[in-house]
Amino acid sequence: MARHGDRSEDAVVSQPQDRPISTIVIIIAMQTEALPLVNKLQLTEDLEPVFPKGVPWVRYHGAYKDLNINLIWPGKDLALGVDSVGTVSASLVTYASIEALKPDLIINAGTAGAFKAKGAAVGDVFVASDCAFHDRRIPIPVFDMYGVGLRQASSTPNLVNELNLKVGKLSTGDSLDMSPQDEASIIANDATIKDMEGAAVAYVADLLKVPAIFVKAVTDIVDGEKPTAEEFLQNLATVTAALDQAVTQVIDFINGKCLSEL
Ligand code: SAH
Repeated sequence: MARHGDRSEDAVVSQPQDRPISTIVIIIAMQTEALPLVNKLQLTEDLEPVFPKGVPWVRYHGAYKDLNINLIWPGKDLALGVDSVGTVSASLVTYASIEALKPDLIINAGTAGAFKAKGAAVGDVFVASDCAFHDRRIPIPVFDMYGVGLRQASSTPNLVNELNLKVGKLSTGDSLDMSPQDEASIIANDATIKDMEGAAVAYVADLLKVPAIFVKAVTDIVDGEKPTAEEFLQNLATVTAALDQAVTQVIDFINGKCLSEL
């Protein structure tokens, strides 16, 4: 659980499980999802960027209760002006944020598709129990498992019980739609929710040994009748409100607690 440069020293000195969580990094892919939370938590945009010059990544930060909150949004694509969604930007900002801010906990929050066959409905808020990829098919022994990249989220039994959140497995890929191959992999992953960032954030968090949790609000039903893009845009605003409320409750719950109490 080393978090700073000197890993051996950290392993002896700090026991992050046993002291209250202090610094949180929240990774959110879309501006529409991020801004209401920025306002609610009264965060301010960074004036002295901690990220390399020229990147579109934005950090909002502030003190909230006993917590030092950093909300990171990968920003708008420099060439096309749309949100930098997907796994590439998500892994980069997760890596850069951990390096710069040394968080005790990462929260990846966002919207997601979900499966009604697994009991999900639009507006539900899920906490992911684990994350895997569904579009990295490498049919060679062991590489196949590397492609799936299954990683467990930090365990939060008290948090999900207290806040009455649903728990499900998350499957991540770089497409909003779902090809038949993706569908087969999502079924193999036993996933209830589908997004474009979670497993990438989980990969980097695991690499750098920072605990991570995933809070996902359902904008669209993948196995429903409506086309995904249409349903997503239709529900984005209302579901974002549900997401922001849930993330605020999660932060309120975390405040003053150690990782082992979540
Ligand atoms: N048309 C949108 C594109 C957003 S991409 C726009 O106007 O900007 C979708 C984003 O929402 C990603 O960050 C992804 O994590 C999440 N998402 C919501 N529903 C999804 C689904 N069914 N499949 C994959 N990602 C989904």
